[in-house]
Amino acid sequence: MQTYDKFYINGQWVAPNGKDTIEVIDPSTEEVCGVVPSGNKADVDAAVSAAKEAFKTWSRTTAAERSEYIKKIAEKFTEGAPKIGELCAKELGTPLQTSIAMHGGLGIGVMSSYIEVPFEMEKEEQIGNSIVIKEPIGVCGFITPWNFPLHQIVAKLAPALAAGCTVVVKPSSDTPLTAYYLAEILDEVGLPAGVFNLVTGPGRTVGEAMCTHPDVDMVSITGSTEAGVRVAELAAGTVKRVCQELGGKSVLLALEDADIAKSAGKAAGGICGNSGQVCAALSRLLVPRSKQDEAIAAARAVAESVKVGAAFEEGVAMGPVASKSQFDSVRDYIQKGIDEGATLVTGGTEMPDGRNAGFFVKPTVFADVRNDMTIAQEEIFGPVLCIIPYDSEEEAIEIANDTVFGLSGAVDSADPERAKAVAKQIRTGQVAINGGAFNVAAPFGGYKQSGNGRELGPHGLSEFVELKALQM
Ligand code: NAD
Repeated sequence: MQTYDKFYINGQWVAPNGKDTIEVIDPSTEEVCGVVPSGNKADVDAAVSAAKEAFKTWSRTTAAERSEYIKKIAEKFTEGAPKIGELCAKELGTPLQTSIAMHGGLGIGVMSSYIEVPFEMEKEEQIGNSIVIKEPIGVCGFITPWNFPLHQIVAKLAPALAAGCTVVVKPSSDTPLTAYYLAEILDEVGLPAGVFNLVTGPGRTVGEAMCTHPDVDMVSITGSTEAGVRVAELAAGTVKRVCQELGGKSVLLALEDADIAKSAGKAAGGICGNSGQVCAALSRLLVPRSKQDEAIAAARAVAESVKVGAAFEEGVAMGPVASKSQFDSVRDYIQKGIDEGATLVTGGTEMPDGRNAGFFVKPTVFADVRNDMTIAQEEIFGPVLCIIPYDSEEEAIEIANDTVFGLSGAVDSADPERAKAVAKQIRTGQVAINGGAFNVAAPFGGYKQSGNGRELGPHGLSEFVELKALQM
């Protein structure tokens, strides 16, 4: 049980203004595994004021100084990977070994990828009689979700530090313990006071106070489209820059020359990663109608082989979903799929065998899904794969794009050039070709209602930059 009763503001552990607290629930056991304070507007004011003061000096540090801090943080992540893994296993439910590799590994990978990026800030561009220089945007408010408790903060923090910005972070109330550990790491590396500030609490109070605060220059949210829209509306009043990393309903499009069994197995295994709670999850598998049976057999075999269990049990491949509300929501969607006439291949609304506590959902595969069904249109954010048959390549591309989302996707084909040509017609921020691996330095972000802006790598820096033209 981990208990925190302070916020991290201006380089110090500071008592909250109110008395409210948040209980953190271990989704594998449904027991309370932590308590953190729940902040209010006064706490946000204190954090923003510290960040505003710190910006005066932090924004004037050299690229070399900021690079050195980023390097030290990455080193601390490397040392702390087992602890990061343990915390994410506890508060999110990711199986321990996967958690160390995935949540620890992503933190290290993303932070390390920014070691050289501060030097981008010192590059000048000549346009006619103008010199264009880059300056940090200022105080940034970060609002993050629970599905990758460290990564979702680091994907914003690393470029912000590289640019010379200062930040106030409000993590999800479901997974604040990892954020506290991050604050401890940043304190240990001696990041100057006020550069990083942490306030936990509800989106409706702490998050909204950040969005309306006149001294916050930009707000970056990763979360649901609904929350992203609200943040943008609130931020408009003070003309803040808004970066939104929101939901998705991505496809894996297996072209008719692809190895269908391989694609289907990959999709069924993939949707179980992080219990399907991945914004870029490939939750719709598009297969030629004549090959749907082959896809069903392969997807069923993989889904039924996934060992579901508690995060700290040996040999578990998939943990619970993160919370009671996720559990209810995912099972409601499964029921909706059955009610709307999709064929339930495997899984369903029952708990996996032998489970009577914890938020466990069976890996679930639907076939004969039509793209107008709720399960094909709405983000389920759970281990639920929808197999959608198609009759022509044109129709498949149309189905892929027939969604309000535009975050990610994948195309499989025996011919990589053909896959690439199809990938260019899918309106999403990323497309993996024949299983191309996730790249921490490639821009990540959404078209359409999946968001605005890009995170990660050198392109992620631009969210935190103001351009200034000096006429000579
Ligand atoms: P959520 O929208 O419920 O919450 C996200 C964050 O927003 C939390 O910190 C929450 O407290 C805050 N929030 C909620 N309402 C707010 C408001 N009115 N004002 C200010 N802040 C508010 O999302 P979640 O359930 O934590 O995360 C799951 C969602 O996140 C999914 O839709 C998923 O697709 C999305 N996501 C997107 C990406 C991406 O990079 N595009 C990555 C991960 C998750």
